[in-house]
Amino acid sequence: MKNIMFIAPPAAGKGTQAEMVVEKYHIPHISTGDILRDISKEDSEIGSYVRETLASGGLVKDEITYSLIEDRLQKDDCKNGYIIDGFPRNLEQAIKYDEILDKLNIDIGNIILIDIDKDILEKRITGRRLCEECNAIYNINEENSKPEVDSVCDVCGGKLYQRSDDNLESFQNRYNTYMEKTAPIIDYYKKKHLLHTVDGNLDKEQVFAQIERIIEGK
Ligand SMILES: [Zn+2]
Repeated sequence: MKNIMFIAPPAAGKGTQAEMVVEKYHIPHISTGDILRDISKEDSEIGSYVRETLASGGLVKDEITYSLIEDRLQKDDCKNGYIIDGFPRNLEQAIKYDEILDKLNIDIGNIILIDIDKDILEKRITGRRLCEECNAIYNINEENSKPEVDSVCDVCGGKLYQRSDDNLESFQNRYNTYMEKTAPIIDYYKKKHLLHTVDGNLDKEQVFAQIERIIEGK
């Protein structure tokens, strides 16, 4: 099958959709975050560089990220398709990604934009609650995702809490970064006729159904 890249604003459900794709199509989910975390455990020069950079809250140099992605894409499990997540984040990285793919003779595949209204994202973020005990996720702003009893987990009876970065201000910052840095790659891929758009305002099964149609070329 073709490779897949998702582009989506924060909280659009990209991670959930990626998991659903992995489960149905059995392809690896390549995330730059995971690659960096894995390499940071290695006892090597690059491992210690990444470890120290992440620990200090800094950004790993783009050149390092590029070479790690290049290595990752050459592994056997990528031969039958993969999902790439969290990369590219800006136009410069998109251009570099094209170069890497050219070099490795890999087709970029399907680029899927999860298009979603900002007010829906805001409701998702501000309504999200997690269980302290079992990590179950709820949303008090959505009828079908509310806990039965306020602040109590349906599954285990644990107490629900709100993550400190699930607030409007933090969301607005992440959203602005997305609009400024990542949104330009949408046009970049649109001009290359590679972009598919799905309606992210629907529930996750309906969003996934649209993604399935793209993957299966229907
Ligand atoms: Zn629970």
